[in-house]
Amino acid sequence: MGENTTLLCVPLISHNVEDMLVQMNRAKASGADLVEIRLDHLEAFRPSEDLQRLLSDRPLPALVTYRPKWEGGEYEGDDHTRLDVLRLAMEMGADYIDVELQVAHDFMSSMSEKKPESSKVIVSSHNYQITPSLEELGNLVARIQATGADIVKIATTATNIIDVARMFHILVHCQVPIIGLVMRERGWISRILCPKFGGYLTFGTLEAGKESAPGQLTMKELLNVYNIRQIGRDTKVYGIIGNPVGHSKGPILHNEAFTSVGLNAVYVPFLVDNLREFLHVYSSPDFSGFSCTIPHKEAAVECCDEVDPVAKSIGAVNTIVRRKSDGKLVGYNTDYQGAISAIEDGMRGSYGATDKIGSPLAGKLFVVIGAGGAGKALAFGAKGKGARIVIANRSYDRAKALASLVGGEAISLGDLESFHPDEGMILANSTSIGMHPNIDETPISKQALKSYSVVFDAVYTPKVTRLLTEAEEVGATVVSGLEMFIRQAMGQFELFTGLRAPEKVMREAVMRNI
Ligand code: NAP
Repeated sequence: MGENTTLLCVPLISHNVEDMLVQMNRAKASGADLVEIRLDHLEAFRPSEDLQRLLSDRPLPALVTYRPKWEGGEYEGDDHTRLDVLRLAMEMGADYIDVELQVAHDFMSSMSEKKPESSKVIVSSHNYQITPSLEELGNLVARIQATGADIVKIATTATNIIDVARMFHILVHCQVPIIGLVMRERGWISRILCPKFGGYLTFGTLEAGKESAPGQLTMKELLNVYNIRQIGRDTKVYGIIGNPVGHSKGPILHNEAFTSVGLNAVYVPFLVDNLREFLHVYSSPDFSGFSCTIPHKEAAVECCDEVDPVAKSIGAVNTIVRRKSDGKLVGYNTDYQGAISAIEDGMRGSYGATDKIGSPLAGKLFVVIGAGGAGKALAFGAKGKGARIVIANRSYDRAKALASLVGGEAISLGDLESFHPDEGMILANSTSIGMHPNIDETPISKQALKSYSVVFDAVYTPKVTRLLTEAEEVGATVVSGLEMFIRQAMGQFELFTGLRAPEKVMREAVMRNI
């Protein structure tokens, strides 16, 4: 698995010493290795007394930081006083001291004789605007090393997720202990994957809202969602590419699945602006597979080296696998399999049944509301099973275009209310109508639902939509979008790993978290 020596540090930004001591104990209980005492956040700070209290009974090793305004902190006084406080903290036994590069030479020369063996000096540099070029980052590391720092710390800002790749490069090649983090959401992976690339330390907060720098994750997320203690050099990286992507339940679901089968892999959120550029930069075999969500599913068709024929017809790829044998990117669509198999099993009245000879969709009239990504997946999927397709969409032109692609019929949303050419029709909603927070909305009246024997809703927040409640009330068989969600994720797991998906684990993870 490769050695994981990365320390987990909780930043403490309380305004008073009492609260900071309480938070220190909470940090220990959360599983942290050390705390960062941010002196610049303390109000009415009395150096000797407060440091004495903070350091004497500390339950964990402590990093003492007194960040000035000019480096993004809260301290507004003069640097002489500030550096005196840091020297005092060191004499009092602080395990680590953070000193900014700009003042590090002065600090180090004033300490040379008196520096206690047990204290380590972290010399830090923060860039709140950008992440410089690889060459500039390399020069920065050299300048920090030249101060005599025990540990180098560089924190930059991600304006694009590809910035993080340069930081990983620096971490891997640095000869001394280094903390290399990239701030903000586009830098999330720098905070999760540092054990893989040899980062000395990463920060985790006790709860959301207690960040000392933008983009920090919580200790719970690092430990329980991303299993950061298990990440090592050889850990394979998977993840969900999207924008936005922070709300995705994919990491919870896939990481639980990886753990349950004992795979050395982690699944992370990739907040991506330009898919082609992202795939080009993260092209090492370490980045083994990706889920794709809004707005990248269509672009993914163009960015893959090979695309599964059905995904190509649908015009959307939701899964990309880096083929081990030749490194080529292969695109698939598990949305359509997930949706169609859920509907088929719902019709058979036997989720998980094994006797699946022939499709119950064959010959049926299958009405899709919506003509977007999910609509296309449903229409092509049902067509492939021998159903006759009708598309109803708000924009009639899009309904017509999709209907002609699948050899079906287009109708307007208005026509849907009186549409009843057949008995035993199947209805599939693929619009976002009825999705949280608009849970009172529904795409079709309860009266009109009486014409359908099976109703599927792609929306899965809430778990039971108004459409499904009313469909059940008029006697239809209902199939939830959650079933599609679970199955598309199982399909992805199988493509990623070549293993059978741990269905029970994945179902339970979804039920607990949605
Ligand atoms: P999309 O490509 O943006 O398509 C959205 C569709 O909904 C379009 O047909 C659009 O009509 C229609 N629409 C949106 N708002 C509407 C409104 N107020 N009234 C009438 N029609 C409206 O989105 P998508 O990726 O297909 O996703 C659609 C839904 O499916 C979302 O709720 C998503 O969460 C869900 N989904 C679920 C799963 C799952 O695993 N269960 C997977 C994928 C998607 P126009 O063409 O007129 O704009």
